[in-house]
Amino acid sequence: MYADIVLPLAQPAYTYAVPEGMEVQVGEAVSVQFGLRKYYTGIVWRLHNERPRVQRVKSLVGKIYDRPLLDEQQREMWEWIASYYLCTLGEVMRCALPSLIKPSADSESQLLEECYQERTERYYALSESYRDETLLNELFDRLERRAPRLYETLLEVVASEERKHAGEVARRLLSADATPLQTLVKKGILTLTEHTPDLEHGSPTFRLPTLTPHQADALAKLKAYFAAGRTTALLHGVTGSGKTEIYIHLIAEVLARGGDVLLLVPEIALTAQLIERMERIFGSRLTAYHSRLTNQRRSENYLRLNRSSGGEFVVGVRSSIFLPLKHLQLIIVDEEHDASYKQADPAPRYSARDVAVWMAHQRGCSTLLGSATPALESWLNGLSGKYGMATLTERYGGASLPKIYLSDTRRAAQRGERYGHFNKLLIDKIEQTLARGEQVMLFQNRRGFAPYLECPQCGWTARCPHCNVTLSYHKYRSQLVCHYCGHTETALSRCPSCKVVELQPMGFGTEKIEEQIAELFPEARVARLDRDQLTSESAFQRIINDFAAHRTDILVGTQMITKGFDFDDVTLVGVLNADNLLLNPDFRASERAFQLLQQVAGRAGRRSAEGEVVIQTSDPSHPLLRQVLNDDYAAMAREQLAERQSYFYPPYARLTVLTLKHQDVQLVRRAATELATRLRRIFHSRLLGPIAPVVDRIRGEYLMQLMLKIEASASRLRANELVAREVAELLAEKDFKTVTISINVDPR
Ligand code: ADP
Ligand code: ZN
Ligand code: ZN
Repeated sequence: MYADIVLPLAQPAYTYAVPEGMEVQVGEAVSVQFGLRKYYTGIVWRLHNERPRVQRVKSLVGKIYDRPLLDEQQREMWEWIASYYLCTLGEVMRCALPSLIKPSADSESQLLEECYQERTERYYALSESYRDETLLNELFDRLERRAPRLYETLLEVVASEERKHAGEVARRLLSADATPLQTLVKKGILTLTEHTPDLEHGSPTFRLPTLTPHQADALAKLKAYFAAGRTTALLHGVTGSGKTEIYIHLIAEVLARGGDVLLLVPEIALTAQLIERMERIFGSRLTAYHSRLTNQRRSENYLRLNRSSGGEFVVGVRSSIFLPLKHLQLIIVDEEHDASYKQADPAPRYSARDVAVWMAHQRGCSTLLGSATPALESWLNGLSGKYGMATLTERYGGASLPKIYLSDTRRAAQRGERYGHFNKLLIDKIEQTLARGEQVMLFQNRRGFAPYLECPQCGWTARCPHCNVTLSYHKYRSQLVCHYCGHTETALSRCPSCKVVELQPMGFGTEKIEEQIAELFPEARVARLDRDQLTSESAFQRIINDFAAHRTDILVGTQMITKGFDFDDVTLVGVLNADNLLLNPDFRASERAFQLLQQVAGRAGRRSAEGEVVIQTSDPSHPLLRQVLNDDYAAMAREQLAERQSYFYPPYARLTVLTLKHQDVQLVRRAATELATRLRRIFHSRLLGPIAPVVDRIRGEYLMQLMLKIEASASRLRANELVAREVAELLAEKDFKTVTISINVDPR
């Protein structure tokens, strides 16, 4: 007996012999030797009797877990992803399974040692002696003064009844660090017990929000679609209309039936508020799954879900689409238009949203896509009736949509009403807002102080030595940073070319806005949030918490501040420069700009107070800005769809982008031309290029691209086969062996 084993490598499956007496099943994890002294965890993909045509067939070493890691439905999904996104099953495995579940090692024993085995879980409870209210309060008082970390940790354990089972709270549900927990146990304040995690969930009684008539209508409509066998539906609802409330009702219903629910969210750090809200309702049912969990926790979650008999609720980022939810009945994709659902690099370059739609179709479960500004692909599917569609047009509680002003930067400059990067209108509005004791968010789509430094005399700019881009200037660190490869150098003050003149910062980023706002409003408390702050989790959380608690007045940020936040006192949002959003050459630029501006605007006035939005632009008559002004998604969609149709772009065409890379620029050009010629023989004018992309050198490698546009009605899988064949043939030739080719299907 032989077994084809998928290994976490960009290679096809390898065939191993199954030793006498060893019983393996398809989907099981096994350890195998690969090469001379490397051991890998592999997945049994196929069992058969065909002896492979190699000299010596290695045998499987051993089994790792007591049950298969993948069921048939998951294996089908992996296969579909591999064929749709043109990658190997090994690449899917690399991305789908948490790393501790599939370690590699130098020896078999080391592999088994590193392999995560499901352990008993630690549970914490308040110890008997402190179950007295007076004693407990005294303790809290003491700790608050002397040991704030212990105080916070204890508070976390004692609070939130929903998370507990028989007075105990599982370690995985606590965000506290290990040290304060240990200290509290040592001091006899908490007790610690260990047992295997509970799989029993008890009977669900969730306190659900009462829906408004509009929300109830939308919910009924969605349920009717699903009941009628439609597998995917779109919920189009303006920000603050209560899409989340509708999700909650659908989720509760599935959990009560014992089914599993997966709620996909774009970027977990930014949707912490959503998780908290869900946790308040669903308590210990909820499993969060994202990249900031430790490897252990992710592996633990995977194995626990793999044992579950249903009733699980997972909230997670795109990779949670791979979790073993065997009783999956509902997938919700929140903010479905968000680009982070698509993995750009490395392979599998999959879109979790599109996989969710495929899964619904394949398994007959339901997928709900929710957004205030749906992707045009989803919108068209809604219009054409392929997806069911429900709409929420009003904000909850009579909150009105924000009032939007377009402020002309050119005119303001002519009139002398521009100070730094602020028009007078925006300054006046900020002043009024602060005077009312309310908060302001300022959006600038660029971090750092300035995009680049330039010599005013000779035009010299600082460029990355590895990539063909200018370096961004970060003033407070006095550094130049490449946003493509991370290359960092100390900022020069004088031009290295003409040696006399001081370099000038050109353009502007969040850091500069922060500096100017502090000059304009010295009284205001200003904070900044962008990727530079993401380096430390606690710093990031502190900035958010301070703003939420109104300890700061103005928050300056990149698009990071647009997603999912819900701050009560924000009544003014300023967009410093909408022009760079509109000038982007990408065919999705207008759609993206609309989504972004709507989302930014949605942060203003989420409660009863009316919000205001000031968008600064040099082109206030731009049709897209008019559509934003009128809050007219349908008009934007109509216009953009017409353009897409006439230029043959998605959703009317399907795209595949092939990127060739090599350190030798001549070689990569020759390879690209050759591949284009061959593909053109098959696809004719559907093949475009080769062209050098805008950034044509990254990390020392030169890039060339080809783009394939096929009809939406054509078979993607057939086109993929042909592309894969040509690529493989080219790479098999001696000249081109060292070229790397990455294929991106449905790029975002
Ligand atoms: P969306 O997800 O569409 O942006 P949310 O679900 O976040 O909207 O709703 C916006 C605000 O209105 C939230 O604070 C939410 O708690 C509140 N809300 C919406 N619908 C209801 C309801 N039916 N009952 C109570 N509060 C609601
Ligand atoms: Zn110079
Ligand atoms: Zn670089």
